[in-house]
Amino acid sequence: MSLENFNPAEILSEISRMGLPQLNLMEVCGTHTMAIAKSGLRSSLPENVKLLSGPGCPVCVTPSGVIDEILALAMRSDVIIATYGDMIKVPGSVHGKSLASVRALGARVEVVYSPLDAVALAEKNKGDEVVFLGAGFETTAPGTAAAIGAAKDGGITNFSVLSMLKTVEPALRALIAQEDFAVSGFLCPGHVATVIGANAFSFLAEEYNIPCVVGGFEPREILDAVYRLLLQIKSGKARLENAYPNAVRAEGNPLARKIMEKYLTPRTDVWRGLGEIPMSGLCLREEYSDFDAERKFAITYKNTEDTGACRCGDVICGRLSPHECPMFGKACTPENPVGPCMVSGEGACAAMYKYM
Ligand code: SF4
Repeated sequence: MSLENFNPAEILSEISRMGLPQLNLMEVCGTHTMAIAKSGLRSSLPENVKLLSGPGCPVCVTPSGVIDEILALAMRSDVIIATYGDMIKVPGSVHGKSLASVRALGARVEVVYSPLDAVALAEKNKGDEVVFLGAGFETTAPGTAAAIGAAKDGGITNFSVLSMLKTVEPALRALIAQEDFAVSGFLCPGHVATVIGANAFSFLAEEYNIPCVVGGFEPREILDAVYRLLLQIKSGKARLENAYPNAVRAEGNPLARKIMEKYLTPRTDVWRGLGEIPMSGLCLREEYSDFDAERKFAITYKNTEDTGACRCGDVICGRLSPHECPMFGKACTPENPVGPCMVSGEGACAAMYKYM
């Protein structure tokens, strides 16, 4: 069925009539999380079809130990932190301590809209080191890589990247390996797939027999992807489908991948909720170490797990719905966030709070 002839009400009643058992589908993209919450799709689906949010919000999967190191770096008088706005209110391991709070104490923290803005900031502040906080998945990695190239080509020596970049496939494999894994199909991230290609998700069907559909972000595109997943589940045959062909090619964007591979290389990384996952992060290649903030400032991370009642790790793994966290909407709100899932514009708790 083409999307022009797609009638959401008919599809929803068709889904109700499919006679499927109780099952979970998972999206692994923060933009999907926000779009699903905004559309009200979760409550439009029959009760037996539950949509879970997975590890798709880059700020949310960054462990608090990393945030602690960033806060310490921000307090140096010779450092300017350049960051996307999402990171500003993310608390470290100490509740209430964030880039916003250290900025109030005098730290220099600048919100930028692209990594190249951070390079420009370094050009304007030659006496200081500008550290760009490179959080994100494969979607943003090429832009961060391009900024390293721009700084090198421009002879800018006071610019560095603190890489928190992560890759989706190892995290999905780690999630599937968990004892309590109970997801029957994945709505694969359309934005990441524009870079790495739809085919990068075929392992889900081929190795794990899990249906997987790359989906767009409009409500009817998401419903289309969900319907396709359910049809696969009903048929018992898992395969990869690309339901976002206008933006996603099977092989992705070769130019973006080439830039990423030129400047960045995989490494073992730690994810909030999932722990250490081999080859799941991206760091700067040895030859660009002059632009690596970890090396410049000898940063070593402690694997600080969530403490106290924060349940973000469970939310990120789909074990818990945001409203099931005892602090949701009470001790934890967007104005006073306890965990990153309530801060980020792509966090599951923030999405549910905003649109519930
Ligand atoms: Fe974390 Fe707050 Fe969400 Fe609870 S409500 S999981 S503390 S962000």
